[in-house]
Amino acid sequence: MSVKVLIPTPLRPHVGDQESLELEGSNVKEVLQNLAQQYETLKKHLFTDEGKLRNFVNIYLNDEDIRYLKREDTPLQDGDTISVVPSIAGGAVGTEPDLGALNHEEIRRYSRHLIMPEVGMEGQKKLKQASVLCIGAGGLGSPLAIYLAAAGVGRLGIVDFDIVDESNLQRQILHSTQDVGRSKLESARDKIEQINPNVKVETHELRLSSENALALFQDYDIIADGTDNFPTRYLVNDACVLSGKPNVYASIFRFEGQASVFAMPGGPCYRCLYPEPPPPGLVPSCAEGGVLGILPGLLGVLQATEVVKLILGQGQSLVGRLLLLDALAMKFRELKLRRNIECPICGDNPEIRQLIDYEEFCGVLPETQQEQVDGVEEITALALQEEMKQGKDIFLLDVRNPQEYEICQIEGSHLIPLGDLMARVHELDSARDIVAHCRSGARSAKAIEMLQQAGFRKLRNLQGGILAWSKDVDPSIPAY
Ligand code: ZN
Repeated sequence: MSVKVLIPTPLRPHVGDQESLELEGSNVKEVLQNLAQQYETLKKHLFTDEGKLRNFVNIYLNDEDIRYLKREDTPLQDGDTISVVPSIAGGAVGTEPDLGALNHEEIRRYSRHLIMPEVGMEGQKKLKQASVLCIGAGGLGSPLAIYLAAAGVGRLGIVDFDIVDESNLQRQILHSTQDVGRSKLESARDKIEQINPNVKVETHELRLSSENALALFQDYDIIADGTDNFPTRYLVNDACVLSGKPNVYASIFRFEGQASVFAMPGGPCYRCLYPEPPPPGLVPSCAEGGVLGILPGLLGVLQATEVVKLILGQGQSLVGRLLLLDALAMKFRELKLRRNIECPICGDNPEIRQLIDYEEFCGVLPETQQEQVDGVEEITALALQEEMKQGKDIFLLDVRNPQEYEICQIEGSHLIPLGDLMARVHELDSARDIVAHCRSGARSAKAIEMLQQAGFRKLRNLQGGILAWSKDVDPSIPAY
């Protein structure tokens, strides 16, 4: 049989810069052996010393991965096309013959890596040639980007569109006090360049969406998910499965964290673990529930470790395992994960073949609509102040948690945390005008919906919560 073998850019210098070659063989193995025989220097890139195909090299027959066919014994037909796809190393390769070569400064910088057998010169070059996309420059993205940069990952993409806020500094160590008010991407770029100027930082100032995710992921070897919300997490997962990129995952809440590696060939994806998101509002976000500042550090460092292992092709990755951390008890647990053959995206007969509307899937209103929750009447801080000045009888209901109430409160407000509201509903008088508030207005809107269902009618929501009150009415109240 005569087949065409497509050679990826990084390997072309070994075959006289040819894009493709015509080779003979009755199965994949014979063709690859012929290839290695003809081009001696290519051999070590494709095969181990024992003659086994290296595990970071994927071989495709036409458009199918041979691991899903008969592997190297997959028979061939005349005119077939074999593609050699190095799964991790790669990225943009220019005209230099060995872009991975390290200069003297890099050799000094990475010396503690270079003397380890698991990394060595070969591993350090792999790191240099690798590219990783961090979704988010926040709590998880900070340690992740810092350690990947320090370790010498050659190209680091970061997706974010946020501004550094004072309340970020407790955990987002990419950013410093003087960065408050700057774009997180600019701040991250400066910090990373200070740590390791050899790293090429690519900033993507955008909200990751179904429209842009696949094109963006295409340019990177590995995706590291540092998101803080369910729609983006499902989007990252699905885009990784569809584009065949490993998804190094972690999530955090208060004192607890999870980590795994999804979307590797044969391994499970996030949907295999959680086919559906929790209903909106059931799982509080870190902004609502808080998070120990160090926790994203612990989890982000685990993610960085998994990324580096994948690049090096060393160790046992978290594929097929869910690592659970309880920082309060300081206990790690591990659960087995399997690919669900009925998974809607990575199963044997996937229903999802392109990206969907993830906000709709998660039952979340797009942020632009979030402020106008259906059927909840709102009042601004200034209008409320005016009504109170006029002596109108208003019951000011604060639905935040007691720790937040201790930070600050509006004078004359009554605290009933959202979680206790239905049990303590008898403390409210439905004849009185009730104005509910929380920190920013989201939880109090939920409280109003609950009270509406319980028969209350004279309900209004303080727009923007106590933050708006602090900004517009009483600056002596600290924003948090
Ligand atoms: Zn799956």
